[in-house]
Amino acid sequence: MLEDRFSIVVGDITQSRAEAIVNAANTTLLGGSGVDGAIHAAAGPGLLEECRTLGGCETGHAKLTGGYRLPSRYVLHTPGPIWRGGTAGEDALLAGSYLSSLRLAAEYGAKTVAFPSISTGVYHFPLERAARTATETILAFLREHPDMEITMACFDEPTKAAYERALAEYGAA
Ligand code: ADP
Repeated sequence: MLEDRFSIVVGDITQSRAEAIVNAANTTLLGGSGVDGAIHAAAGPGLLEECRTLGGCETGHAKLTGGYRLPSRYVLHTPGPIWRGGTAGEDALLAGSYLSSLRLAAEYGAKTVAFPSISTGVYHFPLERAARTATETILAFLREHPDMEITMACFDEPTKAAYERALAEYGAA
C-alpha cells in the first residue's frame, strides 16, 4: 500500500533517522529562522561552510549537502515560495520544492526522506492548501519509486492533522 510508505508524525526533524532530511531554506542557503535555524544548529558549522560554496538556490529548486552532526547523511535545502496571495505561482513552486528534493534524494540513493511543512511557517503559505499540494506531489513520486519511504515531520498537532486530511483526500485516488 502506498500509504505504508508515507508517514505523518509530530517531531523535530533534526532528530529524524531518515537518510535525507529536507530544510525549508531561503534562497541564500545561509541559514535562517524556524526549521532552517534548528537544522544548522544541530548540524554544526560544517553545514554552513558547505552551504557557502553553493551560491544560493532558486525558489522551488533544491541543493544537497552532507548532514554533518545530524543523524541523516544528507540535507536537501529547498527554498519554498513566500505566500503572495496565491496568484504568483505559489502552488507550482511548492510542488517544485518537494519534487526537486525527492529527485535529488533518489539520485543520491537516499531511500528514506523526511520533510518539514515547507512554507507554512514564516512564509505564510496556507496550511491546508500546502498540505494538499505536498501530499499530492509526494504520493505521485512514491508511485514511481517503489523503493522509497517519506515522512512528514510536523512540528505540531494541527500541522499533522492537516497532512492527514490531505492524505485521506488523495491517498485513495
Ligand atoms: P518557511 O520559511 O518555509 O515557512 P519555517 O521554518 O518558518 O519555514 O516553517 C516551516 C515549518 O517547520 C513550520 O510548520 C514550523 O513550525 C516547522 N518547524 C520549525 N522547526 C522545526 C523542526 N525542528 N522540525 C520540524 N519542523 C519544524
